[in-house]
Amino acid sequence: MLHPVSLAKTNDRKLEIRWNDDLSQLIPYRILRDSCPCATCREKADGKSQQGAAAKSIGILPILSAAEARPLDIVSMQPVGNYAYHIKFSDGHSTGIFTFEFLRSLSDEKFPG
Ligand SMILES: [Zn+2]
Repeated sequence: MLHPVSLAKTNDRKLEIRWNDDLSQLIPYRILRDSCPCATCREKADGKSQQGAAAKSIGILPILSAAEARPLDIVSMQPVGNYAYHIKFSDGHSTGIFTFEFLRSLSDEKFPG
Protein backbone atom coordinates (compact mmCIF):
# COMPACT_ATOMS: atom_id res chain seq x y z
CA MET A 1 0.00 0.00 0.00
CA LEU A 2 1.18 3.49 -0.86
CA HIS A 3 2.20 5.51 2.19
CA PRO A 4 4.55 8.39 3.08
CA VAL A 5 7.96 7.41 4.46
CA SER A 6 8.94 10.95 5.41
CA LEU A 7 7.45 14.42 5.70
CA ALA A 8 9.34 17.70 5.63
CA LYS A 9 8.53 21.38 5.47
CA THR A 10 10.49 23.37 2.88
CA ASN A 11 11.65 27.00 3.26
CA ASP A 12 9.26 28.10 0.53
CA ARG A 13 6.15 26.91 2.40
CA LYS A 14 5.66 23.56 0.82
CA LEU A 15 5.16 20.15 2.31
CA GLU A 16 7.55 17.59 0.94
CA ILE A 17 6.24 14.04 1.07
CA ARG A 18 8.43 11.12 0.27
CA TRP A 19 6.44 8.03 -0.69
CA ASN A 20 7.34 4.39 -0.35
CA ASP A 21 7.44 4.06 -4.14
CA ASP A 22 10.49 6.41 -4.08
CA LEU A 23 8.61 9.39 -5.43
CA SER A 24 8.84 12.76 -3.71
CA GLN A 25 6.11 15.33 -3.92
CA LEU A 26 5.86 19.03 -3.08
CA ILE A 27 2.54 20.51 -2.02
CA PRO A 28 2.29 24.25 -1.21
CA TYR A 29 0.62 24.87 2.18
CA ARG A 30 -1.92 27.11 0.49
CA ILE A 31 -3.02 24.29 -1.82
CA LEU A 32 -3.37 21.97 1.18
CA ARG A 33 -5.41 24.51 3.12
CA ASP A 34 -7.62 25.37 0.15
CA SER A 35 -8.20 21.66 -0.51
CA CYS A 36 -9.14 20.88 3.08
CA PRO A 37 -11.73 18.11 2.76
CA CYS A 38 -13.68 18.83 5.96
CA ALA A 39 -17.37 19.74 5.74
CA THR A 40 -16.85 23.33 6.92
CA CYS A 41 -14.29 24.10 4.23
CA ARG A 42 -16.31 22.45 1.49
CA GLU A 43 -19.27 24.67 2.39
CA LYS A 44 -17.05 27.73 2.63
CA ALA A 45 -15.41 26.98 -0.72
CA ASP A 46 -18.81 26.94 -2.40
CA GLY A 47 -19.74 30.26 -0.79
CA LYS A 48 -16.38 31.75 -1.72
CA SER A 49 -16.59 30.96 -5.40
CA GLN A 50 -20.04 32.53 -5.51
CA GLN A 51 -18.74 35.57 -3.63
CA GLY A 52 -15.76 35.80 -5.98
CA ALA A 53 -17.99 35.75 -9.03
CA ALA A 54 -20.17 38.49 -7.58
CA ALA A 55 -17.15 40.64 -6.70
CA LYS A 56 -15.76 40.27 -10.19
CA SER A 57 -18.94 41.35 -11.86
CA ILE A 58 -19.00 44.66 -10.01
CA GLY A 59 -15.23 45.21 -10.16
CA ILE A 60 -14.20 45.06 -6.49
CA LEU A 61 -11.64 42.88 -4.75
CA PRO A 62 -12.68 40.32 -2.16
CA ILE A 63 -11.41 41.28 1.30
CA LEU A 64 -9.19 38.84 3.15
CA SER A 65 -9.53 38.37 6.87
CA ALA A 66 -6.37 38.90 8.96
CA ALA A 67 -5.88 35.16 9.33
CA GLU A 68 -6.16 34.62 5.61
CA ALA A 69 -3.66 37.39 4.79
CA ARG A 70 -0.96 36.07 7.14
CA PRO A 71 1.53 33.60 5.66
CA LEU A 72 0.19 30.12 6.17
CA ASP A 73 2.10 27.46 8.06
CA ILE A 74 1.54 23.87 9.11
CA VAL A 75 1.58 23.59 12.90
CA SER A 76 1.36 19.82 13.13
CA MET A 77 0.52 16.64 11.28
CA GLN A 78 -0.86 13.70 13.25
CA PRO A 79 -1.25 10.26 11.71
CA VAL A 80 -4.83 8.99 11.57
CA GLY A 81 -4.87 5.19 11.52
CA ASN A 82 -2.58 4.12 8.71
CA TYR A 83 -4.37 5.91 5.92
CA ALA A 84 -4.40 9.66 6.63
CA TYR A 85 -3.04 12.75 8.39
CA HIS A 86 -4.83 15.24 10.55
CA ILE A 87 -3.26 18.61 9.65
CA LYS A 88 -3.30 21.62 11.94
CA PHE A 89 -2.75 24.97 10.18
CA SER A 90 -1.46 28.27 11.57
CA ASP A 91 -4.82 29.94 10.91
CA GLY A 92 -6.22 27.73 13.68
CA HIS A 93 -7.96 25.26 11.40
CA SER A 94 -7.53 21.61 12.29
CA THR A 95 -10.57 19.57 11.35
CA GLY A 96 -9.37 18.27 7.98
CA ILE A 97 -8.38 14.63 7.53
CA PHE A 98 -6.12 14.23 4.52
CA THR A 99 -5.95 10.65 3.25
CA PHE A 100 -2.73 9.47 1.61
CA GLU A 101 -4.58 9.00 -1.65
CA PHE A 102 -5.91 12.56 -1.49
CA LEU A 103 -2.48 14.04 -0.67
CA ARG A 104 -0.96 12.13 -3.53
CA SER A 105 -3.52 13.60 -5.94
CA LEU A 106 -3.01 17.19 -4.83
CA SER A 107 0.12 18.32 -6.61
CA ASP A 108 1.80 17.60 -9.91
CA GLU A 109 5.17 18.49 -8.48
CA LYS A 110 6.42 14.93 -8.23
CA PHE A 111 9.94 13.74 -8.87
CA PRO A 112 11.99 10.63 -8.24
CA GLY A 113 13.25 10.83 -4.66
ZN1 LIG B 1 -11.38 22.30 6.73
